[in-house]
Amino acid sequence: MRKDLMAGNWKMNSTHLEAIQMVQKLGYRLDPADYERVDVVVCPPFTALRSVQTVIESDYLPIELGAQNVHWEESGAFTGEVSPPMLARLGVKWVIVGHSERRQMFGEDDKVVARKLRAVLEHQMTPIVAVGETLEQREEGITEEVIGTQLHGALDGLDAETVASLVVAYEPIWAIGTGRTASDDQAAEAIGFLRGRVAEAWGEETSERVRILYGGSVNPGNIAGLMAKRDIDGGLVGGASLDPDKFAALVRYWM
Ligand code: PEP
Repeated sequence: MRKDLMAGNWKMNSTHLEAIQMVQKLGYRLDPADYERVDVVVCPPFTALRSVQTVIESDYLPIELGAQNVHWEESGAFTGEVSPPMLARLGVKWVIVGHSERRQMFGEDDKVVARKLRAVLEHQMTPIVAVGETLEQREEGITEEVIGTQLHGALDGLDAETVASLVVAYEPIWAIGTGRTASDDQAAEAIGFLRGRVAEAWGEETSERVRILYGGSVNPGNIAGLMAKRDIDGGLVGGASLDPDKFAALVRYWM
């Protein structure tokens, strides 16, 4: 039985002061029973990680801390970068790797994604590996080829136990920040395909354990339909995660 997971990717939004308010408000809106059912993760910008971590710790919130990016080296002459031990030491448990904005705007390819993913694992954090196709690729009918290549590019070489422990997020690029969400069936089909690929490469048991999220204009109006799909284990949420009311409603999608 896979536990649901709702991860908020705040992207380049919120000063550390705004972030403190956001996580406090989220904490007020959720009950212990919610956290039993759903792992709740927030991924603020680097500059807010420390502040959010302090709120989580001092208010005993079961909200988990995630980062949006990381460099693969431990330290050194990499101006502007942040390393895995820096994040781990701050209490970061999750790191998004391979987000389409990083692939498209910052030139990250599958090799970079694979290096980052391994660095995250080496520091006992859990990667959330994002894959997804563009609209052109979907219209060309090559969605499975694209997301299959991204999946293998990131995960090949890992053992089954490791694959079972990480999280994959299927995020069609045409649905990110556009208000145009994939239909429940489109999301379930792509996620079922990814789970099938995991089964072929790492075995049935691993494919039943690995959590696969959907991301792309998730909101309180469409979450229940997505979560009703057997293969969809939660959401990677951008815009709606900036509003604590909306994000709390996503966590409590069954209400
Ligand atoms: C995302 O950035 O991962 C995302 C899914 O964004 P949004 O929810 O805003 O579409």
